[in-house]
Amino acid sequence: MIHHERLRPPSQDYPADEWNVIEKGFHPEFLAQLETMLALGNGYLGMRGGPEEGGPNAENSTLINGLYETSPIVYPEDAYGFAKIGQTIVRVTDGKIVKLFVDDEPFWLPSANLLSYDRRLNMKCGTLDREILWETPAGKQVLITSRRLVSFVDRHVAAISYNVTLLNAGASLVISSEMAVNEPSANINADDPRQTRIFTGRVLHHQKSYAKDRRIVLCHATEKSRLTLTCATDHALETSCAHAYKVVHSEDFGQVAFSVEAQPGCPIHLSKFMVYHTSPTAGSEELCGRAEWTMDRVVDQGFQQLLSAQEQYMDDFWRQRCPGQGYQRRPHEAPHRRDPAGDPVQAFHILQAAARAEDAGVSAKGLTGQAYEGHYFWDTEIYLLPFLIYTAPRIAKNLLTFRYKMLPRARARAKELGHRGAMFPWRTISGEEASAYYAAGTAQYHINADIMYALRKYVQATGDEQFLRDCGTDMLVETARLWLDLGFYSDAKGGKFCMNAVTGPDEYNTVVNNNAYTNLMASENLRYAAQTVESLRAADPDAYNALVRRTAVEPSEPEAWLRAAERVYVPYDEKLKIIPQDDSFLDRERWDFRNTPSSHYPLLLFYHPLNIYRKQVIKQADVVLAMFLLGEAFSLEAKKRNFEFYDPLTTGDSSLSSCVEAIIAAQVGDTETAIRYGMAALLMDLADVGGNVKDGCHIASMGGTWTMLTYGFGGMSDDGGTLSFWPRRAPEDNAVLRFPVTYRGQMLEVEIGLEKVEYALREGESLVIRHETEEVQLTKEHPVAVRPVSRR
Ligand code: BGC
Repeated sequence: MIHHERLRPPSQDYPADEWNVIEKGFHPEFLAQLETMLALGNGYLGMRGGPEEGGPNAENSTLINGLYETSPIVYPEDAYGFAKIGQTIVRVTDGKIVKLFVDDEPFWLPSANLLSYDRRLNMKCGTLDREILWETPAGKQVLITSRRLVSFVDRHVAAISYNVTLLNAGASLVISSEMAVNEPSANINADDPRQTRIFTGRVLHHQKSYAKDRRIVLCHATEKSRLTLTCATDHALETSCAHAYKVVHSEDFGQVAFSVEAQPGCPIHLSKFMVYHTSPTAGSEELCGRAEWTMDRVVDQGFQQLLSAQEQYMDDFWRQRCPGQGYQRRPHEAPHRRDPAGDPVQAFHILQAAARAEDAGVSAKGLTGQAYEGHYFWDTEIYLLPFLIYTAPRIAKNLLTFRYKMLPRARARAKELGHRGAMFPWRTISGEEASAYYAAGTAQYHINADIMYALRKYVQATGDEQFLRDCGTDMLVETARLWLDLGFYSDAKGGKFCMNAVTGPDEYNTVVNNNAYTNLMASENLRYAAQTVESLRAADPDAYNALVRRTAVEPSEPEAWLRAAERVYVPYDEKLKIIPQDDSFLDRERWDFRNTPSSHYPLLLFYHPLNIYRKQVIKQADVVLAMFLLGEAFSLEAKKRNFEFYDPLTTGDSSLSSCVEAIIAAQVGDTETAIRYGMAALLMDLADVGGNVKDGCHIASMGGTWTMLTYGFGGMSDDGGTLSFWPRRAPEDNAVLRFPVTYRGQMLEVEIGLEKVEYALREGESLVIRHETEEVQLTKEHPVAVRPVSRR
């Protein structure tokens, strides 16, 4: 179901372009959406796409992944084991402000007479570019161009090149480069539970501030989470016009104001460098020192070198990993409209969310907004990791390593809940459970199986057995223990292994017995754990003994896991021939869709949870998701029957739904529905399908679009560790689907047209894949195989 009709921006001001997200006019009503779509980030540091002048803004966040403040979660009616400490990502020092005054007249977008305006997220270069021609009230024409980047190469660095030229007259200019801390909070709707928590008062506490020439350093710390942050800015001004500067700084503010006597036609170039360092251990002195070292290096390099490094990074990314991701019109078909499937925007935003996260996770919005408080969810493992595993395995490994580092806390959490093993948090930054609503939070035990599912995919696709041995096995042992402890052999279900009081992915049916998704995924987790530990014991006794020392795993445990895996209860309804989502799903009354106005979606904002929970209504794909993830376990008929049953009940109130619905629709041959959902997923952010792109990008959905194109329309599968393809015909006659896949260090490019599919080994020696039922070997000598696309 797709309900949302949104305010449409004037299309001439947002023209189609393959490599840029373009804004041709200033529209205050779309301020927030553009801040999101034009946000820059590198996975560590993120800046929303507000204008250089520091306003106007909807939510002017600069964010650092993992920099959060804690606060007690207050429950008027508390209970044992509820999460106690909330974690909220904190807006850090806004270092990117550059204000302009011409003859004392401030340049302020809403009131300025703009003779021309062009702003674009330049995805080829990894920059946000702006060019404006402003006519002052006195008739002076001022050309302002700027380029902003958050460096992928230098994870702590951002920079702006800001250029002003007076065209028709001279003027006295002031360019005021500023940095500000603890600015008033964004415009946040406290009634929307998906938004962030608002701190009242000061969050970042001053530690130290100083200036040296044109460099300002501000150091702050959070009070309770005890994280220290240093932000430094430095500047280089180049012009032949006469100029001088003044520096001011206080606890929460820094300013270098350049006064320039601008001559007509004489350009003024300001380079502004920003460095951010954070630490849970280093004190202010040390952190300021680190920031200065980085700054010395960066100032020495200059903006141009930072830009060249950024362009090189992007070039490598697009060339090696995502050349022409998605459907594209053939070159001779001049695109007459934006062809969103060919947009690299999803891949770019995922890169910005994940590339340099390194010792952190990826939050639901990446670093494009504070919604969901900057928390990490299962979104990473189920929606993001497939893309990263097959295009940037190094990043995928970092994210899995980050989960591994959470293991001690996950063990402690399991213990707190009286379980054996480890229980990963439903939502977190620090590794502690931060979900204040257990029914749609802690009860989502499936996250443990989701992480192990991603681990298996990673190991299969990369062959990184070392990671499996060093980190994976411990997580497998502990999650398998959790499942065995959670479940029981139920006489009422014919002695099957059942798991009660859990919540599946669908948050509109909570704390249920035998959620099919959870049981199926847990079964996979148990089986994979048993197989891995057994083969380690047989093949590598030293590694096995080390595992025993770390986890005290006993020889009898894998057998018990396997037994549970094989006897897992999966609900089945003989009459409907479908898998009920849980034990009582079919007993519920169907939601009255007909009398629900489209303005009442997402339901969670308009109905009490109880009104939702007692009805047959689904927030996001649940059984349908299991049928995709564990595709081999289901016949096409079963997929079709279940899809047809669940689709009309699925609201898609979560952005995580459309891509999955599209995949199964494509698999069962319902191309029209697949395209409809596919477009919703592809346009989730670009066309604001969910109506909340103002709060940040839907990173999971962005990852899901890659999965949808490759697994859904591309007919890719990797069950059992062999890369297989059963491509479907492209949905339009003039479209081709092209995507690269990195598999075990080799790079395969797949191109699916109307009649034929071409597999090309672009890098590597030899790769065996499966096309439909045929085994195809590609070698360096014979790198290309062409096969017909069957009409199914
Ligand atoms: C979805 C979850 C998801 C979370 C963060 C919720 O609305 O129901 O599945 O993990 O958003 O994206």
